[in-house]
Amino acid sequence: MKSKTIALIAHDGKKEALVSFVQEHRAWFEQFHLVGTGTTGGQVANTGFEVERLASGPLGGDAQIAARITEGHVHAVVFFRDPMGKHPHEPDINMLLRQCDVHNIPLATNVASARLLVGDRAFGQEND
Ligand code: PGA
Repeated sequence: MKSKTIALIAHDGKKEALVSFVQEHRAWFEQFHLVGTGTTGGQVANTGFEVERLASGPLGGDAQIAARITEGHVHAVVFFRDPMGKHPHEPDINMLLRQCDVHNIPLATNVASARLLVGDRAFGQEND
């Protein structure tokens, strides 16, 4: 059983970038239990990953992930945000970001920071 969970979320304008990123780092992501918001999780699952899919973001998926962080069940978040978009579920998104900070959970919001997370050997090894 995989001891760590990574949450995957991407706004519509960034879904392609997230799916490509996860595929490029398949071996790293496969070490972890993956959980995602509905559409993002579905797209990642379509590339052959096992992903637990929660509600779509606008229907509460971000809030579900925030709750899991609060409960200690999510250990890192890769959330490719679209800084150019407006989102009806902005309050849920802010809650998710805040919960990451409250619980000191690594949060990668773009490709550059996700690369740092994937390159952090200590994070992966703690999974053993
Ligand atoms: P989605 O939700 O993966 O269901 O599109 C992500 C979001 O918009 O926060």
